[in-house]
Parts: sequence; C-alpha cells; structure tokens
Amino acid sequence: MSRDFKMTGISIGSGLNKCAYHCKYCQIADFKPVKYTFERFVKIIERFIEYKEKNKLKDFEVSFWNGYSYDNQIEELQKEMELYKKVANWELKILLLGGLPHMSDEVLKDWYIKRKNIGSEFVTATYTGCKELHDYWNTKKGNFDFLLNAQKIAQEVGLANEQRILITKSSLKDMDKLLDILDETNINVRSRVAYLFFYSGLARKYEHERVTMELLDKQPKRVQEIYRTDKNNWKSEKDWVEYALNNPSHYGKGHVDLTLTDKNIEMIESMSCEEIIENLVKRTKLAYSIAPSQEELASKYSDKTSEKLYMFLWDMEALWMDRYLKENPIDFERGLTHFGR
Ligand code: SF4
Repeated sequence: MSRDFKMTGISIGSGLNKCAYHCKYCQIADFKPVKYTFERFVKIIERFIEYKEKNKLKDFEVSFWNGYSYDNQIEELQKEMELYKKVANWELKILLLGGLPHMSDEVLKDWYIKRKNIGSEFVTATYTGCKELHDYWNTKKGNFDFLLNAQKIAQEVGLANEQRILITKSSLKDMDKLLDILDETNINVRSRVAYLFFYSGLARKYEHERVTMELLDKQPKRVQEIYRTDKNNWKSEKDWVEYALNNPSHYGKGHVDLTLTDKNIEMIESMSCEEIIENLVKRTKLAYSIAPSQEELASKYSDKTSEKLYMFLWDMEALWMDRYLKENPIDFERGLTHFGR
C-alpha cells in the first residue's frame, strides 16, 4: 500500500547562513550556500504570512530555516527574531557555535555583545569526543579548543551556556576525559545533553559508529546522567521493526518543504502562494505514493537482529529506504519526504 500525504503548512529553507566547517557527519550537508540576498528570502516568508492572514488559515503553519551559524549581519538576525515571533510566537534566544568561524577573543566578544543587545541569551556548543577526536570529526584543527574558549567568553559577557555531546562508539570511549575537561573549565552550564547521530546527511556513512542500549547502560553514572531525557524512546532496529509493524505511520501529514536555491528563486518569486503550494503538494504526494509503505520497509528491508540504536522512526525508515533504493533505484523526490530529512 502506498502512502498518502496531507499538507499542514510550509517550511521555507535557505542556505544563507553559511557554516564555516565540513564536519564528517554533517546532517545538513545538502543545504548548499546560495548567492541570493536575505531580503529576497524574507520577502517570500512574508508573502506566506500574508497569505495565511488574508485567507484566515488558522491552522496553516509557516516556518522557515536559515542555516545554523547566526553569523549573519546583526540586522538580519534581528529580522529573523521578529519573523520567528510572528510565525510561531517563538523567541529566538540561541546562538549555535557549531558553524561559527574561528576568531580572536576580542572579535568574538564583540560578536556576542552585539547579539546579546538584540535578545540572544545563550550559546550552545556541540562536542563529538574530546580534543583530537572532536577535531577529527569537525575536520578543523583546534575547533575543540575554540568551542571551549568560546563558552568561557560567553560566560564573561553574561550569556548562558549549553552543551550538546554526540554519542558514537569512539566518542563514548573518550567521554570520561571529555567530561573532566568540560567540568574543569568552571563554565556554568545550564544544560548538558548527550544523544545519537540522526540517520541523515553525511552521518549515514557512520553506521559502524552507532551504539547499542547495552553499551549505553554500561557507561559510568556521570555519563548516563547526561543522556537526553527521551532516551527511553530510543530503540534498536530490532525494536523499531516491531513498532513500525504495529503502529500507523507518523508521517502521513506535515508541512511541504520549499528549499530556495539560486536556480529556483526567480521562478518561486514569479508564482503565487497558491501555485507554490499546489506544486509542492502535488510533488510531495507523488513522492509518497511511489515510496514503499512503512510495513513493507519494516518487513523486507530491516535487519531484525540489529541492536543498533536510532532515536526516531523517521531516521530508522530512512535507513530502510536506503536499502530499498539499492534494490529498486526509483526516481523519487526524497528531499520532499521524511526520508530526506
Ligand atoms: S558545524 Fe553543523 S552545519 Fe556545520 S558542517 Fe558541522 S554539523 Fe554541519
């Protein structure tokens, strides 16, 4: 049985906020940098906000995503903050350090203060292992030290700190050492959580790094204490098979994805909101109608003995889809579906 899809809104994505790195596991590597202006991106978002208001579409969600670094012009970040408030009543307070280029302490201080003045409240750094191991994953020598120092400077200027730690087989071996270093810095950390790679983007190449529940449960108490609170919902592939066979699909409805590129932006600007939505819904429905059902993927393309852990059904299904596509190389707009997250 093929899948149906019901549209609940639109998510508009750009690659405007460039990332300074090339992490080996980057999960958004498909977002290519673009040359069009921020103003053109904003105009399209505003058109959809207006469309929603004009047509009184209370349940139609407009969302957007503009890259990870927030290393854009301060006026642009301010505009993003206003737009988030408008479309989702959400306050953008976070500064992700992941994509930020290395810079001197003075320049970084200034970078922080400018953002703090318009409402940024906290910084988040993501570590994948300790020192050299982190730099190996990040592919930039000295990135571990830069992140740690950036968190100290954030504290000095009055920004709060959060830490995320990615769990792989190799980073788990390093975890005690990493926690020692993070604790020794005397940074006040209001949240520190550890979680797995999603099965998406380049991270799909590192299945040999995927851990099992048994391995997680064997770690020292201090490591177990920082697992993200949804750990109880993480499942082995074996358990996801059972779940998928006994539960309806979660992905029968959702937003359509509009990814703005240098190639399509002119065409999108010339189309009405109705035309854009109609086109995306048609293509998304087609992609889902071609995709095998959840039951078919779970029963035929899973490894029913695998103890490797996945956090969500969508990343589990993306792996099953990869196996399916090896046998059945169909022409399929994967990026419009949850298989392409
Ligand atoms: S910092 Fe984030 S966005 Fe940039 S390459 Fe690494 S994982 Fe990808």
